[in-house]
Amino acid sequence: MELEDKRVLVVGLARTGIATALFCAARAARVTASEERAEAEVAEAAAKLRAAGCTLELGGHREATFLAQDLIVTSPGVPQEMPQLAAARAEHIPIWSEIELAWRFLRGRLVAITGSNGKTTTTALIGHILETAGIPTLVAGNIGTPLISRVEATSDSTVTVAEISSFQLQAIDSFSPHIALLLNLTPDHLDRHASLDDYGHAKARLFEYQTEQDAAILNADDMAVAQYAPSRPQLYWFSRLKRVANGGFLRGDQIVFRRDGSETVLLRREDIGLRGEHNVENVLAASAAALLAGATPAAIAAGVRSFAGVEHRLEFVAEVGGISFYNDSKATNVDATLKALDAFPGRLVVILGGKDKGGDFSLLTQPLRQHGSLALLIGAAAGKIAAQLGGAVPTEMAGTMDRAVTLAFERARPGDIVLLAPACASFDQFENFEHRGRVFKQLVRQLEQQAAGVPGRAG
Ligand code: ADP
Repeated sequence: MELEDKRVLVVGLARTGIATALFCAARAARVTASEERAEAEVAEAAAKLRAAGCTLELGGHREATFLAQDLIVTSPGVPQEMPQLAAARAEHIPIWSEIELAWRFLRGRLVAITGSNGKTTTTALIGHILETAGIPTLVAGNIGTPLISRVEATSDSTVTVAEISSFQLQAIDSFSPHIALLLNLTPDHLDRHASLDDYGHAKARLFEYQTEQDAAILNADDMAVAQYAPSRPQLYWFSRLKRVANGGFLRGDQIVFRRDGSETVLLRREDIGLRGEHNVENVLAASAAALLAGATPAAIAAGVRSFAGVEHRLEFVAEVGGISFYNDSKATNVDATLKALDAFPGRLVVILGGKDKGGDFSLLTQPLRQHGSLALLIGAAAGKIAAQLGGAVPTEMAGTMDRAVTLAFERARPGDIVLLAPACASFDQFENFEHRGRVFKQLVRQLEQQAAGVPGRAG
């Protein structure tokens, strides 16, 4: 693919857009970057791009600019329905997401992971196993560094492990991972996708351009996933509940991989340090992908054993006065919260709420009751959650995280677990879920210091 002298428009100037614009500029494309926010809000990025020779269109997107391009590259947050994109589409101007562009330049092999929940954990775990196996590995995508930023670092022997979102898959044209994983499909982002079907189709595009030489790995326990099983690539399944003809499953205490009629033991269940059955699924998926990417069973077992998990995913924070605090700020939808509840025995005090993503909170009623839980509600969705729990679970309106942590400590008894698993996005009160998780952890640490008699910052 040749970018020299091509007119390329980059839409959206967050991290991915900046990386994309710089990548294209470095290849002598004529780059324009279009951004909704005004100069003052993106001053640093604007200066960097101008220095690299890019033209900037700030404070809004002009249709004429979109129509004057050879190629448009969109950032993950940019809605494909934007009228300016529709106009360009009508003029047959190619519109790609950043992963499509990156794919054209990527060397070596690509393992791509999508699904509603577990992407980051599984991506990080595959990366960790491959590193343990001594395979040259790069980890990229939504997990941190945009794929386009890692392209330069790849060689023919690299395995790139990339976390991919449904939004990025909406605008691909040939993007085709050598190993593609679809972890699960549960309602999420229904505020941005027309329906679950629409969302599922977007995710299943991960397989669309795969060939017979490629492999697809899907969750056999997820009813919604099966309908998207592709016909071209080699098909593997993973299951926590049953044996599969080709792929990974549990046999007693062992995780086994079956291929062409022969079975290999990859690891034991006790090798998994992460909590919760959902993490057994992540391990099944990751170990299958790692095996197909060339890791030995011994390296897979060692990698799983030494994997510490990812911050903000069922992360243990501290024990204060016999009460354990866990941070699952990344539980931004109802399904992730259900999985978090399932990962703990005993009584829970659960902090729920934030910005509603169109979830059905009534699904939480039964498991919350089973745990004898108290639900502390924060943020914009608190009223809706209280209404949908319908009085069947004790709830208190805490409003803020600060108040929720204080209340949780007052209400919890020794042996209880306080769990932040909000089932909502964070943007009503926080910059993002990481910020929310950090604030929670900070508040817990203050409790810890107070309990130890050390004056904390809260006094
Ligand atoms: P993603 O990148 O898809 O958001 P993460 O690994 O960041 O996935 O986890 C997101 C949330 O979902 C966390 O709350 C985590 O505990 C939970 N989770 C992780 N794996 C799974 C899974 N396989 N199924 C359901 N929930 C999961």
